[in-house]
Amino acid sequence: VHPFKVTVIGSGNWGTTIAKVIAENTCLNPQLFVKDVQMWVFEEKVDGKKLTEIINTKHENVKYLPGITLPGNLVANPDLIDSVRGADIIVFNIPHQFLPRIVKQLKGHVQPSVRAISCLKGFEVGPNGVQLLSAYITQELGMECGALSGANLAPEVAKENWSETTVAYQLPSDFRGEGKDVDHKLLKALFHRPYFHVNVIEDVAGVSIAGALKNVVALGCGFVEGLGWGNNAAAAIQRVGLGEIIKFGQVFFPESKVETYYKESAGVADLITTCSGGRNVRVGKYMATSGKNALDSEKELLNGQSAQGIITCKEVHEWLSSCKKTNEFPLFEAVYQIVYNGVPMVRLPDMIEELGCIA
Ligand code: NAD
Ligand code: 13P
Repeated sequence: VHPFKVTVIGSGNWGTTIAKVIAENTCLNPQLFVKDVQMWVFEEKVDGKKLTEIINTKHENVKYLPGITLPGNLVANPDLIDSVRGADIIVFNIPHQFLPRIVKQLKGHVQPSVRAISCLKGFEVGPNGVQLLSAYITQELGMECGALSGANLAPEVAKENWSETTVAYQLPSDFRGEGKDVDHKLLKALFHRPYFHVNVIEDVAGVSIAGALKNVVALGCGFVEGLGWGNNAAAAIQRVGLGEIIKFGQVFFPESKVETYYKESAGVADLITTCSGGRNVRVGKYMATSGKNALDSEKELLNGQSAQGIITCKEVHEWLSSCKKTNEFPLFEAVYQIVYNGVPMVRLPDMIEELGCIA
């Protein structure tokens, strides 16, 4: 059996960090993995130079992960189709609003036997209702897709500060003809580092739902922080948020396991870290202190990075509206109304109570 060739699609703050993690591991495991890791980069110019060229010569993603030296075997590639040529494992890691376009381009260029992991946090809402991104990738490209998610602020992982993560994967029985246990070990070998501890489970739905929805909660948390209401208010938002995350899973993805939300890094730990120092909480806070709208705040604060909660709260609202359940998720709905309809943030506690009462 030849070693597995790995491609990472995406090179933002988290995309570059995960590509670094993988490239370190492929170096250490030449029997298991091809050493060079392809990283697809959405090409752009930085100070007049192509970002791919900067990454391949300076070994630093100066725009999205400045100050971090990347392994020499991590190869930036601006050509999406070329980057996945011959890949056995594809790791998706882009802001999720770009996924449909990427998947469309990949059609016909990847084998269904490729195995995929999605590091994205968000949903796809379309004619099929609300869909996990991993399921969307499987549907569109035919490949089995799992999810990696956890309490993983990229700058901390990139600096090799210790953290945990959860990888969820439901193994196809034909995966290289090997047993389940062996394949979960393969994923662990791909992602686990001394500073990045991986737990592999099978609950793809629970891991994905928690990762997507905590971004909406973090915006709410940013609002109350920006209003200067302090730690108690932030904790209240997180408490309500965790309840709504679990309920969302139980109502729409009954296959997800409640224990994933409590026990896994992808669950409550990711909620806590994002609400403490993630981009979504920072954007929410900035909206409150500056009075600016979400998209302007994202633009001013994040230098091209994405606060995924802005789009996710809209996706969640659209889905909940279509099934007449907005009242059952009052925090998610309140965040949506504040972000998109200009409802004053000070109304947040009342909205949680009022909508919750109607439900
Ligand atoms: P990011 O927020 O840094 O976004 C910037 C990236 O988007 C850049 O690579 C840029 O080239 C790319 N981009 C811009 N326009 C594009 C286009 N039209 N098509 C394709 N790509 C385009 O991205 P990220 O932090 O790597 O996040 C990727 C996913 O990982 C998100 O779903 C995020 O929620 C999740 N995540 C992020 C972190 C984190 O701390 N950054 C941690 C865990 C999970
Ligand atoms: P932000 O996108 O809010 O920075 O959260 C990052 C994250 O998902 C941490 O696990």
